[in-house]
Order: sequence, then C-alpha cells, then structure tokens
Amino acid sequence: MKYFILFGPPGAGKGTQAAKLVEKFKFKHLSTGDLLREEIKNGTELGKKAKALIDKGSLVPDEVVEGMIASQFEKNTSVGGFLLDGFPRTTAQAEHLDAMLKARGEEVTSVISIMIPDEMVMERIRSRALIEGRADDANDEIIANRISTYHAKTEPVIEFYKAAGKYQEINGVGTIEEIFDKICGII
Ligand code: ADP
Repeated sequence: MKYFILFGPPGAGKGTQAAKLVEKFKFKHLSTGDLLREEIKNGTELGKKAKALIDKGSLVPDEVVEGMIASQFEKNTSVGGFLLDGFPRTTAQAEHLDAMLKARGEEVTSVISIMIPDEMVMERIRSRALIEGRADDANDEIIANRISTYHAKTEPVIEFYKAAGKYQEINGVGTIEEIFDKICGII
C-alpha cells in the first residue's frame, strides 16, 4: 500500500491539491481537519472537545488524531493508497504513524511538502474565510496562532522525514495546475 503525506503550512493548498490527486490516482484522502470538522458537525463528544481548541488555532491532542487515523486505516482495506493531509502535524504523531505502519508491515512512501511564505498564509486564509466561513479562519489573531503553532510544533516534522530520506519539497507559489503537475511528477 502507498502512503503519501501532503505537508505544508495552513493555507498552502493541501486540500485543493488533495481533491485533484484523489481524482487522478484514486487515493483515499484522509484529512484530519476534515475528519475533525465532521465530528464537530455531528456534535460528538470528541467534536465538542476539539472545537474549543481548533477555534483558537491550537492543535488537538495527538491521541485524538492518531485514533481517528487508525480507525480509517482499519475501515479502508481495499483502496489503492492513502493520501494523508494535515497528519502528522507533530513529531510525536510522525513517530506514532511509523509505529502504526510498521505493525502492518508497511511504511510511509513519501512526504510531499508544499511551501509558501507566512505572508501568503495570512493572505490566503483571509480570502478563504470569505468563502468557507471556518471559525478558525475568522480573524488575524487566530491565523497568527496557527502560523506560530505550525513553526513550533509542525515544522520539526520536516527534519524527521528528511532523516528518513522521504522528504520532498515543492514551491507552493504558482497556479493550482502548476503545483499539481509538480506533485504528480513526484508521485
Ligand atoms: P489547515 O489546512 O488550515 O492547516 P486543517 O483543516 O488541516 O487546517 O486543520 C484545522 C485544525 O484542526 C488545525 O488548526 C488543528 O486545530 C486541528 N488539526 C488538524 N489536524 C491535526 C493534527 N494532525 N493534530 C492536531 N490537530 C489537528
């Protein structure tokens, strides 16, 4: 089984690219952000706890997302591959994913990182807020918290996968099609 990870700061375009990749390669798309928003929409206990953290731009606890991913792996046994988006977001999550896959005799295939500068993160999320109305896109303070959370907790994941020889980075500034072509080249 192939396990691709789409990596990058908030607003880098992971969701947009994931939708196109799923269509082309028939991957199962696993976005922890989407899974959490689904829990919130359904009013589950997990969703209620997660909402308070997400709405202020903080991460939810590692165990919560690790559990969601594990159950998705169990549920989707006959897919062509997985496209992980928004996970792993901490080094602990990356280590957990490695262990989870190792137990199945599998491993991460490749990490594709879409990089854009912080100013562009702010700009893109501000415009997405007008379209999607996500509470965590609502104001500059929350967005700034997500950017600093990204630098503090998520960026170290890059070194983890570089050390494993699985990290590939592309410049995320360009048209949707240009970025898509670059990702397809890697896959
Ligand atoms: P974006 O694409 O803007 O980064 P996501 O939709 O991926 O946002 O995630 C929205 C929020 O959900 C995050 O800011 C975080 O609070 C929570 N979240 C998503 N994935 C994870 C994860 N792997 N670990 C912890 N929290 C997560």
